[in-house]
Amino acid sequence: MTVLHTEGIGMTSRRTRERMIRRLEEQGIKNADILEAMRSVPRHLFVDDALASRSYEDTALPIGYGQTISQPYIVAKMTELLMLERPLKKVLEIGTGCGYQTAVLAQLAEHVYSIERIEPLYQQAKALLTNLQIKNISYLYGDGYLGWPEKALYDGILVAAAPAEIPETLLKQMAVGGVMLIPIGGKRNEENEQILKRVTRTSSGYDIEELEAVSFVPFLTGVN
Ligand code: SAH
Repeated sequence: MTVLHTEGIGMTSRRTRERMIRRLEEQGIKNADILEAMRSVPRHLFVDDALASRSYEDTALPIGYGQTISQPYIVAKMTELLMLERPLKKVLEIGTGCGYQTAVLAQLAEHVYSIERIEPLYQQAKALLTNLQIKNISYLYGDGYLGWPEKALYDGILVAAAPAEIPETLLKQMAVGGVMLIPIGGKRNEENEQILKRVTRTSSGYDIEELEAVSFVPFLTGVN
């Protein structure tokens, strides 16, 4: 892919990005392909100019419309839990947001299908990722609750917003051996209210593991 740098921020961002990678290693992210993917994606381009200098900190940042770009550790961890050391072919992402996680997944999977329910976010992410010459992504403006049945089955599904329970529709779109990462719970910022779950589709059903407490924006139905 082509990495874009705006003049001036280029060197600084490369250094701070390298620092982010070292921090992820310290935090226990081991998969070298994921670290390389996050080294290659210019995270500062995914946030507002006013926040660009903070874009490599390990924190979520506002992207408008009441939504946030996930913190780097969560992006890396979710991706690592999704991959399980296997190559990813078709991945469905619910909640494109600013498109950062989408860009990281696109470095690792054959193709990424990404759904966003807020139209301006969908438009902006699509424009930016197209500009970055990332070609193995398909975009949908719609309600992720429905998934993207026309393109199913997926060997990975990553949900970046928290519903109250696992949508049946998404379970049906998983291939056997496929994995879904999904935060489940209510409102964010109240301790232990959401739990990250990993669902694996087996030949006879679904295995569900509860992984760790997380804090995501709510999964909303319908479109905006
Ligand atoms: N990975 C994104 C996360 C953005 S926050 C990033 O780092 O930028 C989660 C996103 O999920 C928001 O943009 C929100 O609008 C979207 N979302 C919430 N519920 C959704 C649904 N039902 N369908 C599609 N997108 C949804």
